Amino acid sequence: MKQQLMALFELQKLDLEITRLNAALTALDGALELRKKHAAAKKHSDKTHQTLTDTELQLKNYELELKTIDAKRASSEKKLYSGAIMSAKEVSSLEHEIDHLKNQQDELDGKTLELNDTVETLREQSKAAAAGVQELEQQVKDGIAKEAVERKRLEAEIEAMTPKREELASKVTDRQLLSRYESIRKRTSNTGMARIIDHKCNGCKIGVSSFIVRNAYDGKTIDYCENCGRILIMVDE
Ligand SMILES: [Zn+2]
Repeated sequence: MKQQLMALFELQKLDLEITRLNAALTALDGALELRKKHAAAKKHSDKTHQTLTDTELQLKNYELELKTIDAKRASSEKKLYSGAIMSAKEVSSLEHEIDHLKNQQDELDGKTLELNDTVETLREQSKAAAAGVQELEQQVKDGIAKEAVERKRLEAEIEAMTPKREELASKVTDRQLLSRYESIRKRTSNTGMARIIDHKCNGCKIGVSSFIVRNAYDGKTIDYCENCGRILIMVDE
């Protein structure tokens, strides 16, 4: 019986390796983290670009407004200095209007200058953000290509294990033992067999009675963990 248990234990080692490879295969997620990063960077870049466009439009409006005020002022000054107006009241009213237009012009000049600086900064930010997006785009492409290689490698490795597993399984001639192993494995989604280490089942870490430890040591019977049901074996790694 000991030989059968040993053969089963070897099979389990391979099964664990196949499980590990399958998990690695499942963990390949199409560079998800990078794609998330890229999406966030794109969102930020689009927002910056929109702010830039809005600010540029605002700047254009200021410039148009300035032109209009300029024209108004020129026309008023022309009128004032043409000599056509004789009434003092009219002169004073025109002078007053010209002053008012001058003030408006100054204020708008200040705002335009400020906005010019803002546009300059936003242009730089927008350029940097777009470059960042492009860089991440490349990283996503590289990540996906790298995963494709890794996927192929893992799939080939798993495929190569199929005949190996058949060979190891054929050594377990006690078919009942083998099917018991398979059903426990399914139930635990992990292992069907566990070593006894320090009087404990290494599958569930619960203590095993001395009676079972002795049996396992002799290896003449098949013993199960009373807690998790795994087939127990006394063996060094
Ligand atoms: Zn157990």
